[in-house]
Amino acid sequence: MQYCHLFMENSEIWKSVLAQMQLHISKANFATWFQNTEIISKEDEKMIISVPNAFSKEWLKNKYYKLILKTIHDTDNSVKELEFVIKPQSLKNFNAVKEVKVLEEIEKIDAGQLKFDEFKINKETNLNPRYTFENFVVGSFNELAYAAGLAVSENVGNTYNPLFIYGGVGLGKTHLIQAIGNKVSDNPKKKKVRYISSEKFVSSIVSGIRNHNIDIFKASLSSIDLLIIDDIQFLAGKDKTQEEFFHTFNSLYEKNKQIILSSDKPPNAIPELEERLRSRFEGGMIVDVSLPDYETRLAILKTKLQEKNISLPDDVLEYVASNVKKNIRELEGALNSLLICYKTNNAVPDLETTKKLLKNFVFSPFNVANYKKIIEIVAKFYNLEEKNLFNPTRRKEIVRPRQIAMFLLREELKYSFPAIARKFGGKDHTTVIYAHKKIFQESQENNKLTEELNVIKQRVYSG
Ligand code: ADP
Ligand code: MG
Repeated sequence: MQYCHLFMENSEIWKSVLAQMQLHISKANFATWFQNTEIISKEDEKMIISVPNAFSKEWLKNKYYKLILKTIHDTDNSVKELEFVIKPQSLKNFNAVKEVKVLEEIEKIDAGQLKFDEFKINKETNLNPRYTFENFVVGSFNELAYAAGLAVSENVGNTYNPLFIYGGVGLGKTHLIQAIGNKVSDNPKKKKVRYISSEKFVSSIVSGIRNHNIDIFKASLSSIDLLIIDDIQFLAGKDKTQEEFFHTFNSLYEKNKQIILSSDKPPNAIPELEERLRSRFEGGMIVDVSLPDYETRLAILKTKLQEKNISLPDDVLEYVASNVKKNIRELEGALNSLLICYKTNNAVPDLETTKKLLKNFVFSPFNVANYKKIIEIVAKFYNLEEKNLFNPTRRKEIVRPRQIAMFLLREELKYSFPAIARKFGGKDHTTVIYAHKKIFQESQENNKLTEELNVIKQRVYSG
């Protein structure tokens, strides 16, 4: 009788713990970690809790210990300690536990790629609903772009037009511009939104010309309230498309319709872009996204895990955040490979496993600057051939990139002035000192140059 009484009490206590837990953690987490758990007994100050397997035991111990203890303690303040013991369920139950939600979540990861089955691209807008402001992490690296994007979404066509967002690959441009689109199209005002990648834009123009029905494509754009074109740098050198785009741009702009563009470089650095388009782009708001810092990388990892209702140990996340720095896409890639390992081994990856697993990300040669990369990227950025940089000409379009290359070799690689001079054909090293000083001073006063240097550096470090 006594035993039975105690048992009842414990089960009541556990019920209240479960009720509390449900308030604190997501449904999926709750189902995952608290299914088939119960209090077995109390020994002095220790509450013994049974869990179905080692997997649950680890998680409850590592993640929920404090919360459970506090909740029990609130009911019975003699309890000071918890112990989790594994009590396998009947086979049927055990299998049910193995197929916990977390594994279902991880099921969605396939060969490093998340399959966003639940997200369907909207046929009318071409937007992917997975890109939202809610799951967009903001830090100093992107706050200007975020603020501008938010402002545009709240006042379409009347704040910054066009809004031009640029930055290196994998830094969230597509995410941000689609988030703006999603927010506007979800608004009850029912604005018409269309997202188009530049490749798609080019191919529509080309096939329109070929099939003599370009007017249909143009007409389909003329009624749009918000037109978003991604990766506009692809229009470089495509004269016919640029011409058509110029007309589309003007007709929307005149009607106060919003235009948002993304690019991997600022308008003034896109080669072979018609002057009239460049000046249109520069007539609006230009903002950049750069690389997230450590804290933001950690926040991004945590957000991604939260979305999937999975947790990983803090030391693992900290390791990933401090070592995977290239861009956010790579950060996601690293996280996905951890989750795949989790799924395959049916065990939470620890720090050692993580280190082994992420070798490719961490020791990637892409994360360090070197001479070859600086030269290659500076030349590419200014649309020159590498050998042009070493050409002893005084032509302005070459002198300037050469000075920038010299400046970066000094700043990023700490090359000595004479060493840089030797690289550039044995010039007098005072020429290098002059170049360095000039670029340094100008970059203090000239935003455009600072912008260019930032983009180049970002690229040097991202490969
Ligand atoms: P880009 O278009 O600049 O190459 P993407 O927008 O495709 O980059 O971003 C790459 C991946 O990183 C996407 O999966 C995106 O959801 C994610 N991502 C980028 N920026 C953020 C952010 N600020 N917060 C959360 N996820 C982000
Ligand atoms: Mg993109």
